[in-house]
Amino acid sequence: MDDCLFCKIIRGDIPSKRIYEDDRVYAFYDIDPKAPVHFLVIPKKHIATLNDLAESDEALTGHMLFTAQRIANSLGCEQGFRVVMNCNDMGGQTVYHIHMHVLGQRQLDWPPG
Ligand code: 5GP
Repeated sequence: MDDCLFCKIIRGDIPSKRIYEDDRVYAFYDIDPKAPVHFLVIPKKHIATLNDLAESDEALTGHMLFTAQRIANSLGCEQGFRVVMNCNDMGGQTVYHIHMHVLGQRQLDWPPG
């Protein structure tokens, strides 16, 4: 997608602090962190929202979650972390390319705002 912010980050058109990348996913630090550790895991395939997921994306989303777990632990979040996916405006989504927020290294409250 030409005009998608996260597609531009994947292509390197917009700089990012990359943590990990393979043929299916890209992980990088959030520009406006809400915790001492806050990174995003995104698929290289453009999917706008969770509502646009197809059954054929099951393995991809599982790979995103496993990537989140591995990176979180490698960044010292073994004691706990949170994975969040916002869907659409009502769910707090601002960038329309699905992403997992991974937050850690502080005590997290529940429920979120
Ligand atoms: P959402 O609100 O859609 O769930 O999350 C979008 C996230 O993307 C926000 O946490 C925001 O800080 C982050 N973000 C927006 N623009 C950029 C950017 O240009 N670079 C990086 N690294 N993160 C961004």
